[in-house]
Amino acid sequence: MATIGFIGLGNMGGPMAANLVKAGHTVTGFDLSAAALDALSKAGGHVAKSASEAVAGASVIITMLPAGQHVRDVYLNQGGLIDVAKGSGPLLIDCSTIDVDSARTVTATAETAGLAMLDAPVSGGTAGAQNGTLTFMVGGTGEAFARGKAVLEAMGKNIFHAGGPGAGQAVKICNNMMLAINMVGVAEGFLLAQKLDLDWGKLHEICSTATANSWALSNYCPAPGPVPAAPSNRDYAPGFAAALMVKDVKLSQAAADAVGSPTPLAAQALTFYQQVVDAGDGGKDFSVVFRWLSQQAR
Ligand code: NAD
Repeated sequence: MATIGFIGLGNMGGPMAANLVKAGHTVTGFDLSAAALDALSKAGGHVAKSASEAVAGASVIITMLPAGQHVRDVYLNQGGLIDVAKGSGPLLIDCSTIDVDSARTVTATAETAGLAMLDAPVSGGTAGAQNGTLTFMVGGTGEAFARGKAVLEAMGKNIFHAGGPGAGQAVKICNNMMLAINMVGVAEGFLLAQKLDLDWGKLHEICSTATANSWALSNYCPAPGPVPAAPSNRDYAPGFAAALMVKDVKLSQAAADAVGSPTPLAAQALTFYQQVVDAGDGGKDFSVVFRWLSQQAR
């Protein structure tokens, strides 16, 4: 069993750390929020007063932070985790969704300090984090992947080695860009169906076995009714917040601009999610784009 330092115990990191404790690992966590520390303590983990205290003596360090800037701060700043950990040789695993460039910069700095690092963003949302069924998309060397796999298996069901450093983040932003576009497509279909006097339950039943089927349609329908567990049936409580979707589509757009890849539908979808956020619904699930769209009726 591993000794794990876990930094960032929010909606995702909190339950992920709790699953590591459940699997028998020794987990010491740090977060800026007292409530998050409390929750880890209740789950059987140890709490620290700082990130450097949390990782002292750890064989694995895991971070689950909001964005690239937080990840760079925590690892690279003076007294950051790479400085603290060099010499003792822990494996570093960043599970946050961040830009490919930050992921590669932090990994390169870690490698220069003699430390192996994986970028291992996740898919599966808060339910996946709680149930230990996340999908991990992992970038890094084959050797680092082999070292980290058992720990990731305590938090997830599907653990994929996507390629070298940054490849996990690259898969993640492509996935979320496709999802962002797809959700708008499903929302438009269900709104048109309503105008055509169709029953949403019937549309769902038929289309989920026809060529329009997708995860957004069959598991996460943005129109209330057809999928009882979907956020659309609880006033769009997240789930995955619209503000985080805006962050992720901005990451995919920045990556696409950098390499000259065409993403016109993602650009259009981003303007929709941005308007959802500007209207005050950034904390709602991203499928709330359906309700926003319904208010734009011609
Ligand atoms: P969150 O805001 O709930 O949690 C982030 C935590 O990091 C907070 O508790 C915050 O206090 C802590 N934090 C920030 N800076 C810190 C620092 N310097 N030191 C210690 N703690 C610090 O966010 P989340 O929903 O858990 O998402 C985390 C990451 O996972 C994001 O990159 C997000 O895009 C990604 N993600 C989220 C979901 C989801 O459904 N929520 C799904 C997949 C991926």
